[in-house]
Amino acid sequence: MTLNTPPVAGPGAVRTAPEPTVRRTQAFIGGAFVDAQSGRTFPTFAPATGRALAEVADGGAEDVDRAAAAGRAAFDSGLWASPSVRRDALMRLADLVEIHASELAVLDAIDAGKPITDCETQDIPEVAHLFRWYAEAIDKVFGKVSPSVDGALGVISREPVGVVGIVVPWNYPAVMLSFKAAPALAAGNCVVAKPAEQAPLSALRLAELAAEAGVPSGVFNVVPGNGPTTGRAVGEHPLIDAVAFTGSTEVGRAFLRYSADSNLKNVVLELGGKSPQIVMSDMKDDLEAIAADLAGAAFGNAGQNCTAGSRVLVANSLREELTERLAHAAARIRVGDPLDYATQMGPLIEPASLARVSRYVGEAAGSGATVRVGGQAVLEETGGYFYPPTVVADVTPDLPIARDEIFGPVVSVLGFDAEEQAVAIANDSSYGLAATLWTHDVDVAIRVSRRVRAGTVAVNGYSEGDITTPFGGHRMSGFGGRDSGVEALEQYTELKTTWFTLR
Ligand code: NAD
Repeated sequence: MTLNTPPVAGPGAVRTAPEPTVRRTQAFIGGAFVDAQSGRTFPTFAPATGRALAEVADGGAEDVDRAAAAGRAAFDSGLWASPSVRRDALMRLADLVEIHASELAVLDAIDAGKPITDCETQDIPEVAHLFRWYAEAIDKVFGKVSPSVDGALGVISREPVGVVGIVVPWNYPAVMLSFKAAPALAAGNCVVAKPAEQAPLSALRLAELAAEAGVPSGVFNVVPGNGPTTGRAVGEHPLIDAVAFTGSTEVGRAFLRYSADSNLKNVVLELGGKSPQIVMSDMKDDLEAIAADLAGAAFGNAGQNCTAGSRVLVANSLREELTERLAHAAARIRVGDPLDYATQMGPLIEPASLARVSRYVGEAAGSGATVRVGGQAVLEETGGYFYPPTVVADVTPDLPIARDEIFGPVVSVLGFDAEEQAVAIANDSSYGLAATLWTHDVDVAIRVSRRVRAGTVAVNGYSEGDITTPFGGHRMSGFGGRDSGVEALEQYTELKTTWFTLR
């Protein structure tokens, strides 16, 4: 079966969100919106139309310097040291995010091309939840007293590291920033954040809301700009004590070099993935529900998701039926204008993404794989970068489409005969971010989830866990810490031992 025409949102499609007002485009440094010192700006584009949305301050190394100095001064002032001050301000910030949720949702929808429904029902509520959850945790974390020798008292405490640099991608603009900023601020740090150049708008508005919530000047700085200039300046700055980075594995390596060549700042890396979704042979009666879940895992956010379930590994006895159902699930996904409430999938972020995705699918087709649905750019008349949900079957583990992170709405289907082989294919990757396993057999569930090398293994339903569970990767998907959970608080602290000699 070949389906090539997924539904697309045409003229007259349902309700659309209002066009946004872009209120903030300058850098936010030391509590004020300012131009880049160079006076330079860069355009941020709407991926759904290819048109420029706004000119944004292009922060250079000198602006990162100003922000780091403001962060250090705010930290040293002690204004952010009080747990109750932090808790109250971050709780108010969560409230303000909810009050301004529609505006923030529209900003991410236009700037990153994300469906407005996802932004309104998932992303922005998650941002509010993150700030509230970490605010509530602030006065519930205690230090320890050591069981040390007689005549002494050892106190073990956690202290904020100081100024934390945050460099994030565009795929969940507000959420990615908040994943880092909420625990870093809650732990008592000041931050210098660099949003992705493709989608910087919501970060600037969040900084403004933080100030309105009572976060003191200099505690929350945002410097928009490009990776190799602004991002690098964050990585190398001597006043920045730690960096939390989410993005590609290649740039993650660069942050380790920046740290090595500057002040040996602590680096936390959340990187790419090529997550397997394993369907065992006992799932024959559940294939329709599984296909829907697999489609959500592979095509959510147009596949621009670090945990995208981009490799389906299925028992050969179920392979043809599952592929067929997955192709139908993919074909039902409605691709279109991100501001249309009926849209389930928006465009890719930029023309280079469209070219990359097309190239991988074309190469796979030329190497014996079969494109079962999708496989051609759509809605080109809009000027946007739309590519439909694409299912590629007859994929062998050696093909680039099965190995590389494509970061687009493309899923490869690979077959296996035995559990051993499923584990081997799943682990035949340099990544280890996430995996999903489908089985009713509890022994298989335990055995396979133990053996798959990934930071999160979801059993019987794709998931990254929730705010209570730590999230991060094994192997080249990252190291140094975790997003989410109380574990995220710890990565923004240093351990301190205070030793009292009793006389
Ligand atoms: P990217 O690595 O190109 O960019 C991420 C950030 O790094 C951006 O802010 C960018 O400006 C900056 N940057 C780029 N080059 C830089 C350089 N030389 N020095 C300093 N900073 C630089 O990644 P992307 O294309 O924006 O995002 C996609 C990647 O992010 C994928 O690999 C995806 O898997 C990964 N990601 C991982 C997670 C996770 O939690 N593990 C979550 C989302 C995305």
